[in-house]
Amino acid sequence: MSKEKIITCSFCLKTNEQVMMIVSGAKANICNECIQNAHKIVHEQLGDLETLEEEPKAKKNNSVTKFNYKPKEISAYLDQYVIGQDDAKKVLSVAIYNHYKRLNQTVKDEVEIEKSNIIMVGETGTGKTLLAKSIAKMLNIPFAIADATVFTEAGYVGEDVESILSRLLQSANYDVEQAEKGIVFIDEIDKVGRKSDNPSITRDVSGEGVQQALLKLLEGAEVLVPPQGGRKHPDQKMVKINTQNILFICGGAFEGIDKVIARRIQTSSIGFKSSNEQIAMHKDDLVQYVNSQDLRTYGLIPELLGRLPIVTYLKSLDKNALRRILTEPKNALIKQYTQLFKYENIDLQIQDIALDYIVDKAIEFKLGGRGLRSICELVMTDAMYELPSKKNQTSFIITEEYAREKIEKSKYAYLKVA
Ligand code: ADP
Repeated sequence: MSKEKIITCSFCLKTNEQVMMIVSGAKANICNECIQNAHKIVHEQLGDLETLEEEPKAKKNNSVTKFNYKPKEISAYLDQYVIGQDDAKKVLSVAIYNHYKRLNQTVKDEVEIEKSNIIMVGETGTGKTLLAKSIAKMLNIPFAIADATVFTEAGYVGEDVESILSRLLQSANYDVEQAEKGIVFIDEIDKVGRKSDNPSITRDVSGEGVQQALLKLLEGAEVLVPPQGGRKHPDQKMVKINTQNILFICGGAFEGIDKVIARRIQTSSIGFKSSNEQIAMHKDDLVQYVNSQDLRTYGLIPELLGRLPIVTYLKSLDKNALRRILTEPKNALIKQYTQLFKYENIDLQIQDIALDYIVDKAIEFKLGGRGLRSICELVMTDAMYELPSKKNQTSFIITEEYAREKIEKSKYAYLKVA
């Protein structure tokens, strides 16, 4: 057996036999211990800047104690992925910041900070899930998404509300301690409103029962969950998860909420014309005034709303926002396509007017940010199908005519929302 070559760290002069690992460069070597020391020095000198540039990675099991992002830094991080929605970013950043303050509270503290579960109101495809996902990514903590419409009360066909915790546990690689500090995003919360006027069911299987079950999780409870998900059954091994420190973020479109808000503003304001003027002024943007009271109109029970004390909103995306979404975020759609073509050694160029055309179609289809993806696919698929087989092609330009032709030839009409 050949003897292992001796390498020496150029910084501390230890050999590879004295340290765990040595990384070799062109003219120097560095050991794992010196890398750690150097990292500490950089971190002390530059603060959080270096970590915020890239994905900040809180260390496993240390994510709570190591949390040291200020609300503005959280918001700046979100800016890399989410276009606009500044109010929601601000509210979320503060909520996350306070959540960690709460997690780090000692028993001695007299004032107990309550959990800041959040509810986000905004049309579909405006970035609710994206915001929640980006936060989980930043904090490097387990994250699970569930759609409230699939939940039913225990005993009915459908998923138990607790199944969301199985998902969180899976996302935490079955590390219970980590899962207990994770984030759960529950979408379509507006769809579990109390359905007292539904004559076809004798018991309200999808409405209030689900809200009651959710309430238990939101309040903080010890819940036994089947680690692999699915329904509970007697012989199954269960894992106990305490939900006290899990942050719940709920989202919903709450269709027609603007009318509810307008009515409230009109009736509650004593300022004569001013409320009407206000409504006229913000006709398209009334959602910014949303509060818990408005959400009750959707049949959300007061106890549940009480456990979701932070209400924020997302604006509908206008042309300008959709245009920015195409090219600006860190993993913007156009950046992704450009990269895909680059793998084929093809330089992809998309004319600005072609991008404007794509945005116009997204608005026409009323699919929000989500629609951009389907439209881009319609435009790009033929090229992505044909170009890899073509030899010597080094560039490809998408003009407005090209985009128009691809969309008009496709079955795009089916994308349209009535
Ligand atoms: P929602 O949860 O509000 O229905 P999503 O967050 O799932 O919507 O958005 C769907 C997709 O649309 C995202 O994955 C993203 O590509 C795009 N998108 C929507 N809103 C934004 C935004 N504000 N900034 C960047 N991308 C967005």
